[in-house]
Amino acid sequence: MTKTPGKIEILRGDITQTAADAIVNAAKSSLMGGGGVDGAIHQAGGPAILEACIQIVNQTGPCPAGEAVITTAGNLPAKYVIHTVGPVWSGGHKGEPEKLANCYCNALLLAAKNHCRTIAFPNISTGVYGYPKPEAAQIALATIKQTLPLVPDIEKVVMVCFYQENFELLKQL
Ligand code: ADP
Repeated sequence: MTKTPGKIEILRGDITQTAADAIVNAAKSSLMGGGGVDGAIHQAGGPAILEACIQIVNQTGPCPAGEAVITTAGNLPAKYVIHTVGPVWSGGHKGEPEKLANCYCNALLLAAKNHCRTIAFPNISTGVYGYPKPEAAQIALATIKQTLPLVPDIEKVVMVCFYQENFELLKQL
């Protein structure tokens, strides 16, 4: 029997406090932590997350933009952190839209592969990486909607917006 695709929820808040099976980190390619949501996740989750990231980089090298890897969530309420690397905005003609879409798609596929039923995303690339927020919001929602039918066991996707602007953009869409 075909299941109905999972629901999408849009919330304002701090993703580190979100009790989803997996929360997504907008990581850097080095997976070594950084500022923004990346810093917040490593700080709240504790050193186990960085240790797992170091192991991954030692085995497979840095994570290219658009790809995703999974680690423990350490002390966070989530079970896993899925680290995906958003594109750095440089005008929009260097494959940024495809890379951003790949982040959402690959994170969802990886969550499903690890038997997650709920997953929470931040607004990938819209901080330091400078992706225009309206375009990023559109890609996020369109990609999640396209991918959900491929991952029928995912029941809920939460977009956790740290900033009111992203929250309003997503609500409008
Ligand atoms: P990027 O380098 O991908 O742009 P940033 O961390 O700078 O990553 O920003 C990505 C988004 O995450 C931004 O919209 C930022 O406001 C948001 N953000 C920062 N901290 C948190 C948090 N604790 N929970 C959810 N979103 C957050």
